Amino acid sequence: MSEEGRHVVCPHCASINRVPLSRPAKAARCGRCKQGLFTGQPFSVDAAQFDQHIQKNDIPVVVDFWAAWCGPCKAMAPVFEKVSAELEPDFRFLKVDTEAEQGLAARYGIRSIPTMILFAKGEAVARHAGAVNAEALRAWLRQHEIR
Ligand code: ZN
Repeated sequence: MSEEGRHVVCPHCASINRVPLSRPAKAARCGRCKQGLFTGQPFSVDAAQFDQHIQKNDIPVVVDFWAAWCGPCKAMAPVFEKVSAELEPDFRFLKVDTEAEQGLAARYGIRSIPTMILFAKGEAVARHAGAVNAEALRAWLRQHEIR
């Protein structure tokens, strides 16, 4: 290995990229599909994509478990988007529709939504149930930042 890097899963094609620490990660493009690895937006994932992101990313991954019928989830969606634009590429922001992906919701024992779970190297390291504002979300993530 010539240079230190972090593994980042492409949100578009799910392939694993190595992003050198010496270059700005925000500008990094996927070696396979050539699209930006960071777009400043959360990505909706299915179970297969979820597993790939949780297991292969070197950056922490925060997941918003939500559903279309949930009012507080809708209220929190713009907050999640705003904070993802601010905190990428230090975190990857994903969304899981608990109606479409009931297996994932069951696996993590999601009883109320929205619930956010922060993953690091495949492990759930923190979780928060209930909607939050941008300030609280930022503070929660920074508190659990992995360096
Ligand atoms: Zn790609």
